[in-house]
Amino acid sequence: MNESKVREVAAGIYVVHLPLPMKPTIVNVTLMRSGGEWALVDTGVNTEDSLAALLAAMEHVGCPVGKLSKLIATHHHPDHFGASRRLKELTGAPVYMHALEYEASTHYAPQEHSDEAIRFFLQNGIPLQRFARVPSAGEFWSQLYAPVQPDHLISDGEVLRLGDLEIEIVATPGHTPGHCVLYLRRQKIMIAGDHLLPKITPHVGFFPGGPENPLADFLESQQKIQRYDVEMVLPAHGGTFADHRYRARQIAQHHDYRLREMLDVVRRAPHTAYDVARQAFGFDIDGPLQVQFPATFETLAHLEYMRQQGTIVREEREEKLYYRAA
Ligand SMILES: [Zn+2]
Ligand SMILES: [Zn+2]
Repeated sequence: MNESKVREVAAGIYVVHLPLPMKPTIVNVTLMRSGGEWALVDTGVNTEDSLAALLAAMEHVGCPVGKLSKLIATHHHPDHFGASRRLKELTGAPVYMHALEYEASTHYAPQEHSDEAIRFFLQNGIPLQRFARVPSAGEFWSQLYAPVQPDHLISDGEVLRLGDLEIEIVATPGHTPGHCVLYLRRQKIMIAGDHLLPKITPHVGFFPGGPENPLADFLESQQKIQRYDVEMVLPAHGGTFADHRYRARQIAQHHDYRLREMLDVVRRAPHTAYDVARQAFGFDIDGPLQVQFPATFETLAHLEYMRQQGTIVREEREEKLYYRAA
């Protein structure tokens, strides 16, 4: 095992770097040991590379597969929960996950776009007819994603015990509806999943059937974690860092800036979410779809936030939704 891929960040707490076949190219998972028991937080994607790296790391730190007594997920995304089915089979460990994340995992990555999804894309100005072919999420993700049904549904404020470790579950909805960070009370360590990242801002998108105001949820979750006393943050992407409050405020400021930028765009003229996204994120119609779609969903999260504040309104014209300043 390459030493650089596993690092003991505190006594019995190991960060393991696993490969991803896309950007960001690494996801960090956490192994914890206390009183002869082991727990794993997040799994990486379901590829041979990633699984081999994880098993090698477990061997390196002296965690036999049969000794894993908890497998805890921060959220349902493929880089966090993709290998859960195989790991459950290999280790027999009970799986812990928030109910909303389990629900999301069951309808993640459909093979076909539903009529509802297509209507949603068109209404929001995504020029589907201009794209040769839009692969469904399922085509891209199906190989990487093999989720399992959890054995235990975790909820906000619950404390899981592992030997002497007290692992507090802190629900931090926003990036996903049931995202949770884990707070190790004695060590003052926060395992942050995708809620708090040092270099990039977590994606916050609006989707049909999802929460009505995901950006409000996310910003509230950034406030919430600031109430904790934290000495070290273990993010899922990027290096460990210390000042969680500083980073939470930076992320909130980033969204504040985006909100004002988008308000300026719709003040000039009514626009669809796609057209606002093009201006705010600076992509054009020939750009990669992996940029255009998430940017549009993220833009929608901002527009819906302002619509619920009353600063902008939405109007339907010729089956498209336009946003304008109120
Ligand atoms: Zn994620
Ligand atoms: Zn992630």
